[in-house]
Amino acid sequence: MKKLAGFIMDDTRPMRDRLFMLLVVSSISTMAVMFFVGIVIGESATDLITLGAGVVLFFIMSVIALKYNLIKILTPVAALILILIVMPVTFFTGGGIYGGSPLWFVFCALFISLLVEGDLKVFLLALDGVVIGICYLAAYRYPSFVTQHDTVEAYWDSFISTIFVCGVLCLMIGFEIRLLKSEMEKSKLKSREIDELNQAQNTFFSSMSHEIRTPINSIIGFNEMILQEDISPEVEENARNIKSSSGVLLSVINDILDMSKMASGKMDIVPVAYDVGDMISEIVNMMWHRASEKGLEFHVSIDPEIPSRLFADEVRIKQILINLLGNAIKYTDNGGITLSLHNGGVSENKILINYSVEDTGIGIRKENIPYLFDAFKRVDEKNNHRIEGTGLGLSIVKQLVELMGGEISVNSVYTRGSTFNVALTQEIVEETPIGKFEAGRTRHHHSDLIKARRSFEAPEARILIVDDNRANLLVEKKLLRNTGMTIDTAESGAECLELTLVTHYDVILMDHLMPEMDGVECFSRIRAQAGGQCQNSPVIVLTANADSVNRALYKRAGFDDYVIKPVDIEVLEGAILAKLPHELVRNVTETGYTGYDEAAA
Ligand code: ADP
Repeated sequence: MKKLAGFIMDDTRPMRDRLFMLLVVSSISTMAVMFFVGIVIGESATDLITLGAGVVLFFIMSVIALKYNLIKILTPVAALILILIVMPVTFFTGGGIYGGSPLWFVFCALFISLLVEGDLKVFLLALDGVVIGICYLAAYRYPSFVTQHDTVEAYWDSFISTIFVCGVLCLMIGFEIRLLKSEMEKSKLKSREIDELNQAQNTFFSSMSHEIRTPINSIIGFNEMILQEDISPEVEENARNIKSSSGVLLSVINDILDMSKMASGKMDIVPVAYDVGDMISEIVNMMWHRASEKGLEFHVSIDPEIPSRLFADEVRIKQILINLLGNAIKYTDNGGITLSLHNGGVSENKILINYSVEDTGIGIRKENIPYLFDAFKRVDEKNNHRIEGTGLGLSIVKQLVELMGGEISVNSVYTRGSTFNVALTQEIVEETPIGKFEAGRTRHHHSDLIKARRSFEAPEARILIVDDNRANLLVEKKLLRNTGMTIDTAESGAECLELTLVTHYDVILMDHLMPEMDGVECFSRIRAQAGGQCQNSPVIVLTANADSVNRALYKRAGFDDYVIKPVDIEVLEGAILAKLPHELVRNVTETGYTGYDEAAA
């Protein structure tokens, strides 16, 4: 009995096994009670034998089931015995519908529906129904088949059966509720564990990406310095290879970080008001020289009717287009690529923008198109093996588009080229049409644009770089040496505050993640520093992680701009140039894409 109770209470066993045992135990106890009551009230011998046999049979079954773990097989066997033997015999020998039999039919149906699964359950329930029908019909047509109880027997039988079925029902329901509660507790615990695991994974990925990006930052920076020296063609070739490999490594790390964020639902979309022309200029400035390096034409076709300012997650839209353009360049050897923006329709204050990136490259086989957006899937590997990639880019692009409520599609003719189309609905901030688009010409007020296009000299300017990593300080200082600026460095927030107390800096570059005092705290202390010389100096945060949460943080804190690490020298110079007082700047040189597509104008 102790063993049976232990079995029923054992949380680690399957629920159905425990229910089976509970039912068997309660059936045995009730049948035993009925057997003895039957003797006292003088039940028929057949009834007593059936009950006695039932007790012995169920007892043997429970022992076998326990010993040999045969519950799965014994459950339907027990149900069949109940339906075909116990029920009909007790019905005809126990007073038909005037005894306790109808309640036993209820018990039998309960037994089947709680313990049997699938088609077998349907079959046994149907069989139970048929047997009940036959019993009722036979008793109605041939009343002599039924051994009638006298009134005392009928009352006893009905009383005990009612008590039994009520007891079993209460036990079952109580047991189910208990199980449900413990399952809910377990699933709550599991989901908490999963959340914690996700959190840990996310923290791991972002700290890992930070840890990896910091040394890559140094590699890229020092390599950039080598490239600026007067070096032999062989060294230059090696340095260019280092540059391209570290670029690939960096983009892989960024992709993995994005994937982990999407998987844990942490990739949030942060819409801002942005200037469409500036964004396109920036993208074009980033991509055109990659296209021209491969001898590809780069066309931009912008619908002049598109409003000049929209509200959406500019950073993610840029990421999508840069990714698609990067692929277009990667998978095209001859011809050109075209970036187009079309007005897909305006309703109220919203506009559907259709972006398309078209190339004349290798194209994609029709049968591969359905797998194109799968993570880690690179299609046509045989022909593309010499082209670097991880197969993550398009999966990230698709998820970003969907997070922004948009759609992405692709048309491609194998060996002829591909067109990727992205449709995103955005709020209109300023209705003035963008007009004839000239990349980089019209939007001189915007620092982002200048970032990618200008170099300068400012020998009278003095700037401060704050970073806890010495290698970073060295790289950034050396990269900026051609500007002629006086550059001071500080290795901690505390050191920075000592310097800002006595020296005025025209611009401060501030690392975000530093031990003890981080960049955000240091920045607010500079602004509030009593007697400080830099309360109004522009502060640009240098960050390895410009995700939406951090971007929102920088904006709230009041930083003047942010530059992503590893720093791109043009971007860094551009950001500084935009913040330096004009009178300190000389010899601004412009580089970059200045063409536009006549056809679109
Ligand atoms: P990868 O890092 O391999 O480029 P993506 O997810 O960006 O990963 O692209 C998945 C696959 O789709 C690529 O391996 C390539 O076979 C195919 N593909 C993507 N863009 C193009 C394109 N513009 N032209 C031809 N094939 C493409």
